[in-house]
Amino acid sequence: RKLKKYFPITKGIFSRQVGVVKAVDGVSFTVHKGETLGLVGESGCGKSTTGRCILRLIEPTSGDIYFQGKNIRNLKPAEMRRMRKEMQIIFQDPYASLNPRMTVGEIIAEPMLLHGIAKGSEARKRVLKLLDTVGLMKYHADRYPHEFSGGQRQRIGIARALAVNPKLIICDEPVSALDVSIQAQVINLLEDLQQEFGLTYVFIAHDLSVVKHISRRVAVMYLGRIVEVASDKELYRNAHHPYTKALLSAIPIPDPTVKKERIILEGDVPSPINPPSGCNFHTRCKYAMEICRREVPTFKEVGDGHQVACHLF
Ligand code: SF4
Ligand code: MG
Repeated sequence: RKLKKYFPITKGIFSRQVGVVKAVDGVSFTVHKGETLGLVGESGCGKSTTGRCILRLIEPTSGDIYFQGKNIRNLKPAEMRRMRKEMQIIFQDPYASLNPRMTVGEIIAEPMLLHGIAKGSEARKRVLKLLDTVGLMKYHADRYPHEFSGGQRQRIGIARALAVNPKLIICDEPVSALDVSIQAQVINLLEDLQQEFGLTYVFIAHDLSVVKHISRRVAVMYLGRIVEVASDKELYRNAHHPYTKALLSAIPIPDPTVKKERIILEGDVPSPINPPSGCNFHTRCKYAMEICRREVPTFKEVGDGHQVACHLF
């Protein structure tokens, strides 16, 4: 609720603050148990920072995070450690996120040992079971990450996340670094695991075509704010926000009854350092009005579970 993460920009030997990066600027959304919420936006819009703030891997500047009804924002470190068992993350880069000096078995076992879930031969047994669950072989436990392909490494990362029986997994662009042919396999695996273990996902991606397959609801982010939330079907057929429409126009829609024209956005994404006032999309929006420069649009309900933050509605 109203999550913010501002990073100060400092200069000189006395760290004089010269500005602030508004990476996440008042984000609110809900993820229901067992669903996948897609969080979409161009790179640098604050998706990953939002994901890390939810787990408090980065401390939010303000706002609240409710998990199973409990505000975890002010939990003490020991309590937060216990909570982390329930909430895991899968990273974008399967090359950088696995320790190259540990065997795959050690990598997967580490969170179990850390959280006191299993140790010794019991941990080993669980590791072998997890390898099987994610489609790898038992003998892979004694190999090192560099011996694996990108897709296999992402499977290792997934096994590691599953090792503590989490309820929520933040998937931070888990397939963006993979070949297209491998992407579908990893997404299918994530879907199977969701069914099997009743997992809840926040699935972060920079393009709508990837989240389309996996998400039941989608939240669109622009420059640190969420601009539209809707079920996937509603969003693809009936997007309201000019930014969402532009994003959608960039991907092929398989439905021939949906007419579409390619909307090209003017200019680049503005810097999150001193972002535009009011609706921060106004510098690129062809519908921008006087009020857009002055006032931040609030969320309005435009359909069942469909919300949009734009002065046009
Ligand atoms: Fe465009 Fe104004 Fe809507 Fe922002 S609030 S998207 S500038 S019309
Ligand atoms: Mg990112």
